[in-house]
Amino acid sequence: MKEVTILSGKGGAGKTSVTAAIASVAENAVFCDNDVDAADLHLIFNPEVKETHTFYGAWVASINEDKCTNCGICKSHCHFDAIHYKEEGGLYINPFQCEGCRLCERVCPVGAITSQRSENNFWYVSDSRFGPFVHAKMGPGEENSGKLVTEVRRKAREIAKETGAGFVINDGPPGIGCSAISSVTGTNAVLLVIEPTRSGLHDAQRLVELVNSFSIPLFAFINKDDINAEVTREIEDYLTQKDIPLLGRWGFDTNIVESMIDKKSVVEYSPESETARSVKSVWEQMKEFLEVGKVVSS
Ligand code: SF4
Ligand code: SF4
Repeated sequence: MKEVTILSGKGGAGKTSVTAAIASVAENAVFCDNDVDAADLHLIFNPEVKETHTFYGAWVASINEDKCTNCGICKSHCHFDAIHYKEEGGLYINPFQCEGCRLCERVCPVGAITSQRSENNFWYVSDSRFGPFVHAKMGPGEENSGKLVTEVRRKAREIAKETGAGFVINDGPPGIGCSAISSVTGTNAVLLVIEPTRSGLHDAQRLVELVNSFSIPLFAFINKDDINAEVTREIEDYLTQKDIPLLGRWGFDTNIVESMIDKKSVVEYSPESETARSVKSVWEQMKEFLEVGKVVSS
């Protein structure tokens, strides 16, 4: 079983459109939405949820006012300045500042502080018309998205082993944060989706540095390559300089927008389009690399 992660340096680069299109042509695969902070692949996959699991978030401390003697010891020990005096007297812990280190719990002389893990995050195992699908939903303001990405990827690999699937395809989060790191760690290849704008190129370069630091084979795809010829040329030069194979490209295509509105992949929406053909070629090249380790080029 081989695992590939599809990433973009920033949101809005077309990553989910590309992932959905690849899902339409990739057979024998398990799909996994790693963008747990702003999951959207389910809008196209229209999954039938089979299992729902709670993902326990970070610890958050709170004070039992009935036990608290207002000694202030916890406040003086909190390194994150999360404990405050109330105007009306007494102390409280701001849950958005609390880092869950639980030190206050240990130093409180009367046992007035307890900590709990949030139960506001969920992950799901679903069926979809593309194949098994593992996805998640984080509650507002929740943290630990990197650990949740690790959990959904673990489950996707487990399903792939059980079902004999040849591939796990991850739709990664945008950017280079901890969830992006969790999304690439241990994958067999990364497909980078780049949009030809100045910020798109800059963000892609940061992502290339991140992926290269893990020594993971990296491939590229340019979305809307006709919206800025100059930056597209710069991207091509950059990829050549970094020895990153450019597997394919899309021009601006209204079929992509219309397919999203119709909650379909562009391959489903317009199978004979040049855009659909381009994606088939990209997946054939990726598959060849994943199966035989052959380095391909456009
Ligand atoms: S758990 Fe840690 S961060 Fe949170 S209030 Fe207590 S000492 Fe401060
Ligand atoms: S250490 Fe315990 S008793 Fe003292 S102020 Fe904090 S919660 Fe209250």
